[in-house]
Amino acid sequence: MSASDDLYTTAVHAGRASVHALGKHAPPIDLSSTYPFDDMDAAARSLTELAHGAATAKTPVYARLHNPTVARAEQAVAELEGATDTVAYASGMAAVTAVLMATRTLRDDNATPHVVAVRPIYGTTDHLLTSNLLGIDVSWAAPNAIAEAMRPTTALVMIETPANPTLDLVDIQAVTDQAGDVPVVVDSTFAPPVIQRPLEHGATLSLHSATKFLGGHGDVIGGVVSTSDADWAAALRHVRVATGALLHPHAAYLMHRSMPTLPARVERAQSTATALADRLEAHPAVQAVHFPGYDTAPCYTRQMDGPGTLISFELGTYDAARATVEAVSLITAAVSLGSTDTLIQHPASLTHGVVSDDAKSDHGITPGLVRLSVGLESADALWADLEQALEACAVAVYAVENAATPVQV
Ligand SMILES: *Cc1c(COP(=O)(O)O)cnc(C)c1O
Repeated sequence: MSASDDLYTTAVHAGRASVHALGKHAPPIDLSSTYPFDDMDAAARSLTELAHGAATAKTPVYARLHNPTVARAEQAVAELEGATDTVAYASGMAAVTAVLMATRTLRDDNATPHVVAVRPIYGTTDHLLTSNLLGIDVSWAAPNAIAEAMRPTTALVMIETPANPTLDLVDIQAVTDQAGDVPVVVDSTFAPPVIQRPLEHGATLSLHSATKFLGGHGDVIGGVVSTSDADWAAALRHVRVATGALLHPHAAYLMHRSMPTLPARVERAQSTATALADRLEAHPAVQAVHFPGYDTAPCYTRQMDGPGTLISFELGTYDAARATVEAVSLITAAVSLGSTDTLIQHPASLTHGVVSDDAKSDHGITPGLVRLSVGLESADALWADLEQALEACAVAVYAVENAATPVQV
């Protein structure tokens, strides 16, 4: 249940070699939007190379093509993921969009790309796939029925594990086995690279909303995609140059600054999460607790080095969930996760509010489900807050039930 010592070392030093070479200790933030050139032919060559997906060129030319601060942060993520390349975007959703768009450039048959996806999945990803905004054919499949859902035009299999918000685990190796030659992207946002590295299990792409653990302090919006497939890396950079969904250098700097503490943050928060999950499980107001640490599937120990820091729990009704979420005081009622502080939210109405009612009820996104992202506070302080919130919940539920009882005269 701990990140290996090697990852602690990598997290501290990754992406910093060029900083030392500059004679600096902290990575500089390069805010240039354009870069002067002396040799116009060389600048033109650089522009062409970068526009077609090269990672570097003689001159960056223009910040939409390349930025050294962003490149250092990308290098750091790549080292933690065990990937050759990481490409950073303006948000997690920009990263998801780029992956879907890149499927068009990687096929030569001109057919509409077909994507097989597994629910539950982050609400806006679900929305992006069902809204047809990107003109992509989508089939939803159960994790063990991916092979049957494949078509000749299938360009991508998309999974999320642990899944948002139910913390269902999907067996990455079993999915990549079914996918065969078709690339698999794993949204691994809930399990940062210190606890899960999807490329080690056959995935072609590992994706994170860097807004969550990688930024880690609630002040970055970003997304990253890592791969060791050179064609995919070039396609992902090509889409970024063409669509402009860049990670800003200041956000990249903050993400890189958060990297050395990533293993320590995750390890501390997940041991607190384990203690809280046990206490929630024993509480009479809580009907069920979803926590990867309780998952007995063999993929849990194979693909995760710890349970992570998220817990979902079932309180039975919308009113019970709302009363609890509104009653916390040390904990913050807010969407997002993976921050230094503990956050609580209600998936059915917030992060998964855009998901269809059928998909919600088929995949356990119930009106009574609450999601907790555990931060770095003490387990006792967090439990005291949760306990008083669950007390408020019991009072609210009692009031609702009694208001609904017809008065006997
Ligand atoms: C938050 C999140 C996203 C989207 O990331 P943004 O940075 O908010 O665009 C995608 N997938 C998962 C699992 C998330 O939790």
